[in-house]
Amino acid sequence: MSIPFRSTNRTIGKFHSKSVSSAIRTLLPAAAISTLGPSCLKNGDLGNNPIVDHATRKQSGNQTTQALDQMVASCTLVPQLLHLSSYDLSRIARSRMYEFNQLIVRLKREYGEPMAPPARGPFELVMWENACYLLPDDRRLEVFEGLRHQVGLNAESIQSAPDELLLPLAMRGGMRPEVRVFRWREIARITLNQFAGDLDSILRKPYTEAKRALKQFPTIGDPGAEKILLFCGVASGLPMESNGLRVLTRLGWGRIQRNYGATYRSVRAALEPALPSSPDRLAQAYLLLREHGKQLCKDKAPLCHQCPVAGGCDYAARQMSPFTLRTP
Ligand code: SF4
Repeated sequence: MSIPFRSTNRTIGKFHSKSVSSAIRTLLPAAAISTLGPSCLKNGDLGNNPIVDHATRKQSGNQTTQALDQMVASCTLVPQLLHLSSYDLSRIARSRMYEFNQLIVRLKREYGEPMAPPARGPFELVMWENACYLLPDDRRLEVFEGLRHQVGLNAESIQSAPDELLLPLAMRGGMRPEVRVFRWREIARITLNQFAGDLDSILRKPYTEAKRALKQFPTIGDPGAEKILLFCGVASGLPMESNGLRVLTRLGWGRIQRNYGATYRSVRAALEPALPSSPDRLAQAYLLLREHGKQLCKDKAPLCHQCPVAGGCDYAARQMSPFTLRTP
């Protein structure tokens, strides 16, 4: 078996699976070997690289595949060094990635126990979603608690509250406050007319029906409805908002597609076999991924050098400076 790898401008070697060590010597130039450290030549030991450990354990008993996996894993440390086929890239992504549980444990170590929203039950959670627009969580909390103390967080109180009470609160929630007041009253109206004022009743319905019921409310789409149900202790998969979705795609889950919905679905499908079933653990994962996306894995300039999961991140590996190959 031989696997040809090419550098950016010339073939630098073929890997024959006699031994990992000789394959590494053949494939990687001196600069790469010195970056990996001298231990990479000893019995294919690439130091404390957990990715390599993982690949080795997974493939033990099959020397050829094991050696290839180690080779591929070593290449992930120098991703720009070689032109790799899509097959190799997908192996790299899979060999680098943390298991979902490992990822959440690392994020929890970084950010601590995440804080759930102060809203309780579907009605409050729908109001929580509609309390603010494009403002930080502390402002959302201010508006939400203002509603609780000045108006009352139930459908009757909100529907009968005058504009003079609702509008100043809505103004604290960002632009277009009149639209926000309209939405609050709409939430109250739907709750009173369709659920006799008791939105908790949807929790006794099958999951798809409960989700459909929630999607009638302003600004609540599929992810929002799933999130509300999750915080009510009813789960079916992991809902994601934009931060969590960004983190997961960068780490190698799913694929970025042309539209948000397609990306969302691909991440959901990739995650499905790895997810815990407990709603509490899923809610914790949701909150930690969101926090990570806001704090470090930012949209424009992620702070990968501070990231606790950089070692398993496909995106971070791709950002590494390329090696310059010496040509004879
Ligand atoms: S290493 Fe960078 S891109 Fe990857 S998860 Fe961390 S912050 Fe995000």
